[in-house]
Amino acid sequence: MIRGSCLCGKVKFEISGAPYSLSYCHCSRCRKAAGVFSAVLIGKADDLKVTQGLEGVAKYRAGPDAKFDRCFCPDCGTSLGDLSSGEIYVIAASALDDEPGIKPSLHIHTTSKPDWYDIVDDLKKFDGDYIAEK
Ligand SMILES: [Zn+2]
Ligand SMILES: [Zn+2]
Repeated sequence: MIRGSCLCGKVKFEISGAPYSLSYCHCSRCRKAAGVFSAVLIGKADDLKVTQGLEGVAKYRAGPDAKFDRCFCPDCGTSLGDLSSGEIYVIAASALDDEPGIKPSLHIHTTSKPDWYDIVDDLKKFDGDYIAEK
């Protein structure tokens, strides 16, 4: 079980089963919401259970082309990822309390990265989305 929560503790979630991937997203939306980039944990939607505070979670959708909602705690502002999308969950790894058992394997949306930030590791880079390997 991989547990996660927001900074103030109002929202808590649990992930059962192994995540598909952990990646760094450099899109402009992640940059604005999460910092330089967002560490994104992806897995099977059925494996994610919000155990506390789901009713109080705020959601933001950047526009019609945005594939995922951006959920966050309105009390403390913690980015949570998308807690309620279709077949996969897309969780902000920064909200995890436990180790997910995998390391980041790639960078996505790298063309949206600002010039002031240089990727200094040798992980794979994708210009767009990465389709999770099952
Ligand atoms: Zn909170
Ligand atoms: Zn992103």
